[in-house]
Amino acid sequence: MTMQTWLGGISIAWLLAQTVLLFAYRHALTVRWREPALRFPVVIFESDDWGAGPLEQAKALENLREILAKFKDKKGRTPVATLGVILATADTQRIKNTDGVEYFSKSLSEPVYTPLRDVMEEGVRQGVFALHLHGMEHYWPQTLMQVAAKDMNVRDWLQSDGIPGTESLPSHLQARWTDASALPSRALTNEAVRAVMTEEASLFGTCFKMRPRVAVATTFVWTEEVESAWGKEGIDVIITPGARYTCRDATGKPGGEDKRMMNGELNKRGQIYLVRDVYFEPMLGHKPERLVNDAKERVRLGRPCLVEMHRSNFIGATEKCDTSLRVLEAALEQLQHTFPEIHFMTSLELAEAIRTKMPALLESKPIPQIRIWLRRIKQIRGFAKLSKISGLAVPLWIIGKAVGA
Ligand SMILES: [Zn+2]
Repeated sequence: MTMQTWLGGISIAWLLAQTVLLFAYRHALTVRWREPALRFPVVIFESDDWGAGPLEQAKALENLREILAKFKDKKGRTPVATLGVILATADTQRIKNTDGVEYFSKSLSEPVYTPLRDVMEEGVRQGVFALHLHGMEHYWPQTLMQVAAKDMNVRDWLQSDGIPGTESLPSHLQARWTDASALPSRALTNEAVRAVMTEEASLFGTCFKMRPRVAVATTFVWTEEVESAWGKEGIDVIITPGARYTCRDATGKPGGEDKRMMNGELNKRGQIYLVRDVYFEPMLGHKPERLVNDAKERVRLGRPCLVEMHRSNFIGATEKCDTSLRVLEAALEQLQHTFPEIHFMTSLELAEAIRTKMPALLESKPIPQIRIWLRRIKQIRGFAKLSKISGLAVPLWIIGKAVGA
């Protein structure tokens, strides 16, 4: 074999390996290309679980509103905390009166919640809050009733004095869109989902005089049928963790992943997905630096930074609440300092900007898009290593040099 034939053979083998690699990863590569690239840092706080529940929430939201309103981006927009709203919770007194035999709920539309609704609506007017549908209850009531028959803690929760927070329920029981009375959980019937969704959307309208446009499932467990029911009620934006979990598995954890999604991806009904994958929970000891680093990474990848920050940071022991507010304020100071071009907006506004390919926010020039894509594909599991082995890393490196990556 001559040297030329030998070299020719090696080149063909390399080319073949690179082609196979590109083919094997074609989906992962193309979705990262199609995913919109943002031109500016976008940070949105997403705070779930507000609504029907402990009455101290009104004061807690007042405090949160005050902190957010202290900051402004260059366009004069304040940071936004989207509130994942819960519309009803157990009427523990009435349940107790029946010895726990019957379930009753109290809705957010009742007069006892007027101060809470007022602060939510005032925050929306001021631009610091936006309201998302999180669910009627933060659980599936029949599931809770079934579990209560054999679990004393759940029975006590349903018959608590006052209004208990759902945070103290076992995590798997906090999922609404699955029957977790036994694990692994079982799917709810389509009829049941459709019937309650109409009720949810209508009660949201009664409470806030507007229809919900954005939904986020409790504990990030939902199904295709839930998305369809949301669609029928006019919900066109779905907040996700980047994957759809459809049940709670045998250990109680979210499971049954049947779909992965990127920011801006549309489902078959045209509903748009956003990805919330940054976690900032001061009560768990998360520091401002952690949030800034996570935001830097999202900015580097041309992605928005949707930050999960639950209500539980801001209700309960005074010391914990004060610390959470202080840490949030420090985080906002650091974010503004790190990103002078930061843009604050609601998740709905972000979704609309993506849907309409708004040039003021979305990158449309190919060179910066390629630069961002090259960074994104390095993060595909196994791809960087295999591209080195196959030699694909060389042309990618050359493209990177050409676009200044
Ligand atoms: Zn929740």
